[in-house]
Amino acid sequence: MTLLAIRDVHKSYGALEVLKGIDLTVEAGEIVGFIGASGSGKSTLLRCINHMEAPTRGEVLLEGETVGVKKVGDRHVPRSSAELSQQRRKMAMVFQHFNLWPHKTALENVMEGPVVVQKIEREKARAKALAALARVGLADKADSYPSRLSGGQQQRVGIARALALEPQIILFDEPTSALDPELVNEVLAVIQGLANDGMTLIIVTHEMRFARDVCDRVVFLDKGRIADIGPPSHIFGATANARTQEFVRNYY
Ligand code: ADP
Ligand code: MG
Repeated sequence: MTLLAIRDVHKSYGALEVLKGIDLTVEAGEIVGFIGASGSGKSTLLRCINHMEAPTRGEVLLEGETVGVKKVGDRHVPRSSAELSQQRRKMAMVFQHFNLWPHKTALENVMEGPVVVQKIEREKARAKALAALARVGLADKADSYPSRLSGGQQQRVGIARALALEPQIILFDEPTSALDPELVNEVLAVIQGLANDGMTLIIVTHEMRFARDVCDRVVFLDKGRIADIGPPSHIFGATANARTQEFVRNYY
């Protein structure tokens, strides 16, 4: 089943065209990696998927529904903020720099989405949040403040916060790039666990071994275009694309 369809997405900032026509479909349960040089448009594409940025042209469909806009007759009109937040909640984002509230405990950070966005009553939200923390192996850190957690633990709280929204898809933007090398594996192990559970994931990453081992398909973005795409055996092996070969070689 196609969960996400990206159709001819363009994004410009003034005269700078960052995305130059992206077409991609993602099946439910698929793990898709985005790789590419800094500035190639990976983060912009993630932000266009969940409509944190509106594409300049083209559209994104989640379960067949256009994200952020809808068709009225033959015109596209913006969705109401309630409709948009309903759609966004299905596409949780995990950021490079965690973005946790420093004055809230791990549990309170994870509860925030269910309580504020989903308007779930506190006790139910608490149960959801505790389950999400358990899933990332942090049940015993529920009452800890971020400053008392390692970077790897903070990022696992970030993942729990995404899980608590019960999204259809999780978008990861370089989830391990801000971590000391010895903390990377615990976060990758949690993401691998979600993949094993059948979640649909899009992961922007510079961890080529992880992309090779976990992703079903890897997208190589080059200057705002999909320059190459395929299973890891293609991107890290059989591809005839010289740009892909060069990029992958430099990162291994
Ligand atoms: P990546 O994540 O692959 O490193 P980005 O999507 O962050 O790439 O950025 C792609 C290009 O778009 C860069 O040249 C960046 O400077 C530019 N860019 C990104 N966001 C904005 C913005 N809000 N305003 C202007 N330019 C931007
Ligand atoms: Mg980026």
